[in-house]
Amino acid sequence: MEYEKLVSQALQARKNAYAPYSNFKVGAAVLTNDGKIFTGCNIENASYGATNCAERTAIFKAVSEGYTTIKAIAIVGVQNDYTYPCGICRQVIAEFATDDTKIILGKNDTEYLVKTLDEILPGAFTKKDLGK
Ligand SMILES: [Zn+2]
Repeated sequence: MEYEKLVSQALQARKNAYAPYSNFKVGAAVLTNDGKIFTGCNIENASYGATNCAERTAIFKAVSEGYTTIKAIAIVGVQNDYTYPCGICRQVIAEFATDDTKIILGKNDTEYLVKTLDEILPGAFTKKDLGK
């Protein structure tokens, strides 16, 4: 139920995607441990390299508002298949995730997969490694 709401918010955010170059629209919605939801869309740039993914837009919005723990993040890209986060976004999710964080890959309001970070980024390099 909570996941469906999050997927729905990601779908809504996808409408604001600025993707004139790839035409690949993505929306994301982050649920923080405090119960707040932050949404984001991909924002492309003529220089390509300055493009920002939907997941990072949503996460950076949350972090910039003081929410640094992700309980779940929903991602919706193309709607005839599941869209996984890119490598950079997986690393950013890892920075703010816990062992319980869920990554929800939405196809539409009712079809979605629920993954853990370990499933999509096994052996992640995190802040824990810096102290070794
Ligand atoms: Zn990405």
